[in-house]
Amino acid sequence: QEEHLRKPEWLKIKLNTNENYTGLKKLMREQKLNTVCEEAKCPNIHECWAVRRTATFMILGSVCTRACRFCAVKTGLPTELDLQEPERVADSVAVMNLKHAVVTAVARDDLKDGGSQVFAETVRAIRRKSPFTTVEVLPSDMGGSLENLKTLMDARPDILNHNIETVERLTPRVRARAKYDRSLELLRRSKELQPDIPTKSSLMVGLGETKEEIIQTMDDLRANDVDIMTIGQYLQPSKKHLKVQKYYHPDEFAELKEIAMSKGFSHCEAGPMVRSSYHADEQVNEASRQ
Ligand code: SF4
Ligand code: SF4
Repeated sequence: QEEHLRKPEWLKIKLNTNENYTGLKKLMREQKLNTVCEEAKCPNIHECWAVRRTATFMILGSVCTRACRFCAVKTGLPTELDLQEPERVADSVAVMNLKHAVVTAVARDDLKDGGSQVFAETVRAIRRKSPFTTVEVLPSDMGGSLENLKTLMDARPDILNHNIETVERLTPRVRARAKYDRSLELLRRSKELQPDIPTKSSLMVGLGETKEEIIQTMDDLRANDVDIMTIGQYLQPSKKHLKVQKYYHPDEFAELKEIAMSKGFSHCEAGPMVRSSYHADEQVNEASRQ
């Protein structure tokens, strides 16, 4: 029997069961769409969907060619490329009347363009149908190709988000097929391609990193011109995934946020429940005020 850390009080939240978003879940099934909000059983779903009017769509299928050891998405051979998906995502964004839409994708290492064309088309379709909705993209490294990144950035999202996920030392263990430097490079290049589009990155803590390593990651992100950072608690999605090494106290998150702000990020969300897309609507507003 492996020993597990006990979940602290501040993570034991009650899921809202009299959801007024069941209709939205039905819409997702009818439209054959996947959301991270549902797949990851995100605890913020009520606040995001019903109150803040934001959601995170996962495009390019629900099967990933990679198998990062913190991630609950299924691994395997992906399904065909669905060229109608951009329109269906855009229709749902319109029906949900979203203020802010986050679009992410599984890693499609099987496709030469890394899925970047469908990704870009999704941004354009949302723009056409919901011109007042802000769009944040959260791509994988798309094979590290500058051309693929350019295809996506040409669609002019409001925020380019790419997650560093963990500190440099733990990257090979946590996300074997990704590289710390390649992620930093993607962030830097996005800024070079479209200097007025804010960039953002997320770090999960609780995987065994030290405070010094967290601070080093902040410095590395700033050195690559990243504007927004989010820091959240890693939670183990199943017994097969990496174990939680530490639960950070809300006070520790507050301190990390303070350190991040002192490094020059324009916005930092840090807290036990913070996810990459959490309070993303506020970040766009803040970034565009600069
Ligand atoms: Fe969805 Fe992100 Fe909100 Fe969670 S924090 S419900 S994944 S938009
Ligand atoms: Fe999950 Fe993304 Fe890793 Fe695929 S690449 S396993 S979706 S974190």
